[in-house]
Amino acid sequence: MLRAGIVGLPNVGKSTLFNAITKSGALAANYPFATIDPNVGIVTLKDHRLDVLAKMYQSKKIVPTTVEFIDIAGLVKGASKGEGLGNQFLSHIREVDTICQVVRLFNDDNIVHVEGSVNPLRDIETIQLELNFADIDTINKRLPKIEKKAKVGGSSDEKAEYEVLKKALEGLMNDTPLRLLELTEEEKSIIKSFNFLSLKPMVYICNVSMDDLQTLKTNELFIKVTEKGESEGADVVAISAQIESELAMLDDDEKDVFMEELGMNESGLDQLIRITYHRLGLQTYFTAGPMEARAWTFKKGMSAPECAGIIHTDFERGFIRAETVSFSDLEKYGSYLQAKEAGRVRLEGKDYKVVDGDVMLFRFNV
Ligand code: GDP
Repeated sequence: MLRAGIVGLPNVGKSTLFNAITKSGALAANYPFATIDPNVGIVTLKDHRLDVLAKMYQSKKIVPTTVEFIDIAGLVKGASKGEGLGNQFLSHIREVDTICQVVRLFNDDNIVHVEGSVNPLRDIETIQLELNFADIDTINKRLPKIEKKAKVGGSSDEKAEYEVLKKALEGLMNDTPLRLLELTEEEKSIIKSFNFLSLKPMVYICNVSMDDLQTLKTNELFIKVTEKGESEGADVVAISAQIESELAMLDDDEKDVFMEELGMNESGLDQLIRITYHRLGLQTYFTAGPMEARAWTFKKGMSAPECAGIIHTDFERGFIRAETVSFSDLEKYGSYLQAKEAGRVRLEGKDYKVVDGDVMLFRFNV
């Protein structure tokens, strides 16, 4: 499952957003017996294709894919120096696939800003520096050991690790987060196990006031963050955490009415989930039958056996082939049978790269 960590300075709206996530969560519906950490919220990825499939296959149940959000409060200036509980929080960030940073854009004199004023670019830099410092720390712990080995008869792997760590450290010392440093695929794989914080993909969540949501195009602060995001390949989403927490209390019909009144065609939360999903190169394939219509998350480029393995390792091990039809063909021809008659159902083998929207039935040996 995709894990996204929510970070941000104090008083920027993290808890408000996180509460919206847990309230609107998939927890009750799909995880009745799960005991989940209070800092974890599970949400579903909306996908209209599942509804169509469930109708077509008369499925009893719909199982969407989910994204896990983790509330990582406590990241403050000085966190990497161990101030407060900072260090502990940094270790939580190590475990997530992507970092979602809440940035305060709303103005409210009643709510103190830790730095005394609303300035999203400064806040982004503060957080980034902490992440960089933490990585510098990690490298400084490792470097002397690996340097010794690399210099005296070390293996080629050790030499390669030393070179990449040196390069990474140099980048970080120049304030370049590792995700922006030019690293080859090989270099990335060498340092993968360090789980560097500044290497993780970043999404900036601009927490704006309800009124600002209508006038984003001319909002100077939002424009600045958007430019920053564009310059470094990070996604930027505008959200009103307050509206999201109100939306989370409503059922689907009420939600639609409320959003229409506000001129929104997608909730901020749904937008965030969608963007996070795609940023990580995640795609969806489906399985469908009378029992359930279900969405499965896979990484772009995965083969049919690898995708089968997401359901069960036995499916991967004993993989023979996959009966595959694209969702668009199913929708076009109206049913599996009609799609098959039209020659649109394919038998795919082990080299097939699964495509977003494939509806699959795996054949396997047990
Ligand atoms: P955290 O410290 O980042 O978790 O921030 P909180 O979610 O606890 O929010 C801090 C305060 O800001 C709370 O009193 C929230 O009600 C308030 N707040 C959050 N979002 C907004 C917003 O968009 N506008 C205004 N005016 N207040 C907000």
